[in-house]
Amino acid sequence: MSPTTPTVPLDQEINPWEAQSARFDFAAQKLNLDEGLWKLLRSPSREIIVHFPVTMDDGRIEMFTGFRVQHNIARGPCKGGIRYAPDVTLDEVRALASWMTWKCAVVNIPFGGAKGGVICDPHKMSKGELERMTRRYTSEIIDFIGPERDVPAPDVNTNDQTMAWIMDTYSMHMRQTVTSVVTGKPLNIGGSRGRVEATGRGVMVVAIESLRYLNIPVEGARVIIQGFGNVGSNAARLMMEAGFKVVGIAEKDGGLYNANGIDIHQLIEYKYRNESILGFRNAEAMPSEELMMSECDLLIPAATENVITSRNAANVKARIIVEGANGPTTAVADEILADKRVFVVPDILSNAGGVTASYFEWVQDRQGYFWKEAIVNEQLESILRDSFEDVVRYSEAHAVNNRIAAYMLAIDRVAFTIKQRGIYA
Ligand code: GLU
Repeated sequence: MSPTTPTVPLDQEINPWEAQSARFDFAAQKLNLDEGLWKLLRSPSREIIVHFPVTMDDGRIEMFTGFRVQHNIARGPCKGGIRYAPDVTLDEVRALASWMTWKCAVVNIPFGGAKGGVICDPHKMSKGELERMTRRYTSEIIDFIGPERDVPAPDVNTNDQTMAWIMDTYSMHMRQTVTSVVTGKPLNIGGSRGRVEATGRGVMVVAIESLRYLNIPVEGARVIIQGFGNVGSNAARLMMEAGFKVVGIAEKDGGLYNANGIDIHQLIEYKYRNESILGFRNAEAMPSEELMMSECDLLIPAATENVITSRNAANVKARIIVEGANGPTTAVADEILADKRVFVVPDILSNAGGVTASYFEWVQDRQGYFWKEAIVNEQLESILRDSFEDVVRYSEAHAVNNRIAAYMLAIDRVAFTIKQRGIYA
């Protein structure tokens, strides 16, 4: 067992809040964080739970439950996505809100952290039902969001259309158009060029930096990606274009493998037409779990939490893991990976490209001046390269793994700001 990684009891392993807290406690202890600040930063500052009705297409009234958790606003307005899923829990949203605080601090952008969720099955709802649910959820949390308060964005099962509805609902209440209340909007209503692919682009940048750091050539480096949604498909495409060989794509319903590399342009096209990657002809079918544990240089979990756990971490063959998703590796799995000397680039660094581009979108909306895509990409890449450098240097200086280094760096930055601002009482 590595002395530099935390542990949590096995039965709590897959609770994201426990996973977040275990890493936070370990990093705070390493930092010798003042006990008061420790307590302050360990808990979210506001948790909103709303129960609200929506009229369904058949005229029935259905009740929904939504959350918005605001973890910390020391460094700026809260920032973080909203996810729609049948199994969203308060603990999950809590963890994700804290991760947003640390993520924004790691890339040094002026935001705190928040996250939202609505318990629903978006795949079984019509567009009209989704719109009414989104608008009512927005109106339930409207007093707590705003360009200077809390700025939502897309997350699992939400997209630019969801953000357009939130922006419109908020604007109707304010009696004026307020584009900067959310990010990840469509381009013609205040969205930013480069935002849709930004998380995938960030994954590619830190993947390249990791290879450089470990002296492995990019050309031909073998990648397996779990998840082929917005993050996974964009990361796959950009990495293929950068010279990586994407040998595997694992999805919920099955995976694809081709030792010579999968043509990602063709696969994106195929999934668009078939709503699944299964049946794609230029690769062989392989069960996803087996695929993720196959030989490769980089493994990129890019879907949801708890993909690499104590049950499979020992079988990971990748030299590098770049976490495109939030919380894909449990704290217990971290220890196993550390023993195997797997180089893990933690979620709060490797998927921070999305929120970094969100920051650019918020800035552009407030300026009313929109940047060329090349500028967005260049600024994004530069921030992620610098942040990667900060994290690996911190890890070397403090003899901790990258994840703990990223937490320490982030906690240090937030704690410093709180000390400067002082406690209002
Ligand atoms: N949902 C994304 C994340 O987890 C983006 C958040 C944002 O842009 O505010 O980082």
